Formats: sequence, structure tokens, C-alpha cells
Amino acid sequence: MNNFSFYNPTKLIFGKDQLEKLQTELPKHGKKVLLVYGGGSIKKSGLYDDIIQELHQMSAEIFELSGVEPNPKLTTAEKGIEICKREGIDVLLAAGGGSVIDCTKLIAAGAKYDGPAWDIVTKKAYAKEALPFGTVLTLAATGSEMNAGSVITNWETQEKYGWGSPAVFPDFSILDPEYTKSVPEDQTVYGIVDMMTHVMEQYFNNASHTPLQDRMCESVLLTVKEAAPKLMQDLQSYEHRETILYSGTIALNGMLQMGYNGDWASHNIEHAVSAVYDIPHAGGLAILFPNWMKHNVQVNPARFRQLAVRVFDVDPSGKTDEEAAMEGIQKLREFWSSIGAPEQLSYYDIDDSKLDLITDKAMINGEFGNFNSLQQDDVKAILQASL
Ligand code: NAP
Ligand code: FE
Repeated sequence: MNNFSFYNPTKLIFGKDQLEKLQTELPKHGKKVLLVYGGGSIKKSGLYDDIIQELHQMSAEIFELSGVEPNPKLTTAEKGIEICKREGIDVLLAAGGGSVIDCTKLIAAGAKYDGPAWDIVTKKAYAKEALPFGTVLTLAATGSEMNAGSVITNWETQEKYGWGSPAVFPDFSILDPEYTKSVPEDQTVYGIVDMMTHVMEQYFNNASHTPLQDRMCESVLLTVKEAAPKLMQDLQSYEHRETILYSGTIALNGMLQMGYNGDWASHNIEHAVSAVYDIPHAGGLAILFPNWMKHNVQVNPARFRQLAVRVFDVDPSGKTDEEAAMEGIQKLREFWSSIGAPEQLSYYDIDDSKLDLITDKAMINGEFGNFNSLQQDDVKAILQASL
């Protein structure tokens, strides 16, 4: 395996009736709180009222930034930064899914930076420090609640990039499965696809001899594969929401990538697609990732075969590694389709008219991907196969 050091300071507070822990966690940082949330799901679910009640009990001075959009926009983060600077905010509280949390991360870092926030996203500036923030997660998907990454879209230039810094690990994250019961069917599916893709993006790497890492990844995938169809049958199930919620966090809190480097090419291509078309992140991944797999089977057929046999129940007897690998990819495709994930970009009315633009956006920093470094032609071929 690769050498590694592991650092993750986020306090994870998981389970029923844990919202009251806001009382112990938030006041550590001060009284002026900026509550950041999205388009209103927290008002419908009752979480907003529950949070306001907790904040009143700690005599917090409450400021709000609402309307953070899925695929959060730079302009929204800039509004939050302006509030922080103007009001002298002490601490932020993100209540929502990955988009709200990612936006909060840029607000937290931007509030401590003098230049344009886009510098941080484009890595022109490094976020050395940030305001402290906590999260109340409402959607199992990104792992943003326990990692130091964030993805922001500049809609004016149609660019969507990931950035990160240890300064933007959440100080704490409260995960109560009860608050994820209101996630609609399509977003539940997207969350499942996102977390599975995070695991597989890490699984496909070039580190040698990683038996424990492999088994850890496989066990998260098997767990999600087992729980997901049950959850889709009963979206109100506390137990299945709980399993999926915990899986999403483990999938991308750094634990699985100890000794791995991960690939991340599919995420990069998806960011380019949603920078142009503003589609749901994991809707894009559900389409692109199986095509990335097919395109890269030859890089290490034995690794694809291992995944196929251990996770997708492929019987390898009498099959070459490539044959077993392709059967595994087909089974992943069928599994995602069975829970309702899209198969082709045409599902989002995307045709080949902007494939060159998307490819150029994906290639902006040159070739990418650690398992296999993709060139322009590879990206175009994966997109073409996804139409
Ligand atoms: P999201 O964009 O945060 O939320 C999607 C939708 O679900 C929103 O309309 C939201 O509504 C709704 N929603 C959230 N919680 C709900 C609930 N409990 N009940 C009902 N509706 C609810 O989805 P996400 O998949 O978590 O985040 C996607 C973003 O994260 C993308 O921009 C992606 O690129 C990024 N991402 C980040 C990382 C990372 O490590 N930081 C990793 C992967 C992807 P409201 O707006 O009304 O709340
Ligand atoms: Fe993702």
C-alpha cells in the first residue's frame, strides 16, 4: 500500500434525537450564528423549527442564508461571505445536503480571505483558515459532512470544480436518520449512486497489496447493495435510512483511502457535464461511471474481476478476467437501473452538440485520473458511449 497519514477532526454525532447536541457544540465558538440552508426542504420537514428552537435556547443571535441551490453557486457563497464579514459571524451551521455543506465550506474559508472566493476554488489561493462550522445533514450522499472537500459552480463561466483544505473539516456533524426520511425517491437514488461511486473511485487505484482496504470498500458496497432495494421499497424505514446514512459518511471520510490514491476521473467528467447542463451530480455519475469502467477494463482486468466476483456475485469459473469483469459492470448497471438511476445522458436531454465543450472543460488542467490517466480522446469516448 501507499504511505499515508490520516487526519479527520470532525466530531460525528449520529442517531435519534441528537439535535440537542447543538447546545453543547455551537456555543463553543460564539453567539453569532449564520444558519445556511437550501430551497426549503428543512422548513417542510420541521428541521428548521427544531434548529431555531435549539438556537433560541442557547440565546444565539441568528442570521440566515437560504436558497443554496443543488450544485451550489459561487454567487450564493459570496452572499454568505458578505454576511459573515459585515456581521462578524462567529460560527456557521449548515442544514441540508452536500450542496449546503459545500457552500458553507466556501463561505467559512472566504470569510477569512481578502480576495475573491473563486481564487480558493480555482486553487489560486489556499484556504489556510476558516470560520468554524457545524452541519446537520439531511441527505445521505456526498460525505461532505465529514470531509474537507467542496464542489462549487461558477455559473457565469460554466465551471464546476472541487477544492479542499483541512481548514474546512466540519467541527461537528449531526446525523439523525429521522431527518432523511423526507428525501424523495429520486434524491435517495442519487445519494446511493454517489456513495457507491465514491467507494469505487477509491477501489480503482494503483496501490499494490491493499487487502484490508479492498475488503473495507467491498463491505461498504455490499452493505449499500443489500440495504438500497429495501429502502426503495420503504422510504420511511428508520433502519435502512440509518444504514445508508452511515454508509455515505464512511464512503468519503478518508478512512477508505488510507494507502490508496483513488482515481476520481468520473467525478471530474461529471463536474464538466453538470457545469454545462446543471444535472444532478449522481444522475451524471450513474451514466458515466459504468462507461468509465468499460473504457478501462484493460488497465487491470483482475481488479475489475475481483469487484465482480466479491460484490456482484459473478461466477468466474471458465471465464477470462475480462469476461468476468464485463459481467460485473453489467450487474452494476442493472443494479442501478433497478433502483431507478438513469442510464444515458439523453435522459437529461443531452445530445452530442456540446460534447467538445464538455471535453474541453474536463481537460482544462490536462490529463487526469490516477488508475488510468485520461486524454482528450478517452474523455470524448466515455461521453460518446454515455449518450
Ligand atoms: P443536494 O444538492 O445537497 O440536495 C439535492 C436536493 O435534495 C435539494 O433539492 C434539497 O432540497 C433536497 N433535500 C436535501 N435533504 C432533503 C430532505 N431531508 N428532504 C427533502 N429534500 C431534501 O444533494 P447532495 O447529493 O447531497 O449534494 C450534491 C452536491 O455535492 C453536488 O454539487 C456534488 O458535486 C457535490 N459533492 C460533494 C462532495 C464532497 O465531498 N464535498 C462529494 C460528492 C459530491 P433543499 O435545497 O430544499 O434542502
Ligand atoms: Fe460525488
